[in-house]
Amino acid sequence: MVAECGESSRCQGYDCAVADCLFCKIVAGDIPAERVAEGSRTLAFRDINPQAPTHVLVIPKDHYPDLASLASSDADLLAEVALQAQQVADAEGIAAGGYRVVLNTGAEAGQTVFHVHAHVLGGRRMAWPPG
Ligand code: AMP
Ligand code: ZN
Repeated sequence: MVAECGESSRCQGYDCAVADCLFCKIVAGDIPAERVAEGSRTLAFRDINPQAPTHVLVIPKDHYPDLASLASSDADLLAEVALQAQQVADAEGIAAGGYRVVLNTGAEAGQTVFHVHAHVLGGRRMAWPPG
């Protein structure tokens, strides 16, 4: 687990995943995104393919591939992601009515980008169970 991209502060040792990670590139500003909130260690931006009137992704700026790796490595950072999700919901006007936070974890659950991210979805009534 050697960081080969020179960004070892972000890689967290995960096989230099930063080098070709879409969300690390958004953090770095190499790929554009519509940013809606930013903390010292977190970033929130609109999903490029929204599934609800509000669909924002909240990520840690450091690279962790999924919820399990973040939770076991930095519980405080996971809490910062959760708090920013709440702040985004407040700012988007969906907190009072209710909103959904989703962390797809693993391919079977539909995770396609392996930089942990919380989907913040709201502005319409959500169905259950999820698809
Ligand atoms: P998941 O399937 O849970 O891994 O979610 C990945 C999400 O990233 C999907 O909802 C995509 O629409 C979203 N996404 C992919 N590329 C971008 C991008 N360049 N900017 C914003 N969101 C993106
Ligand atoms: Zn990443």
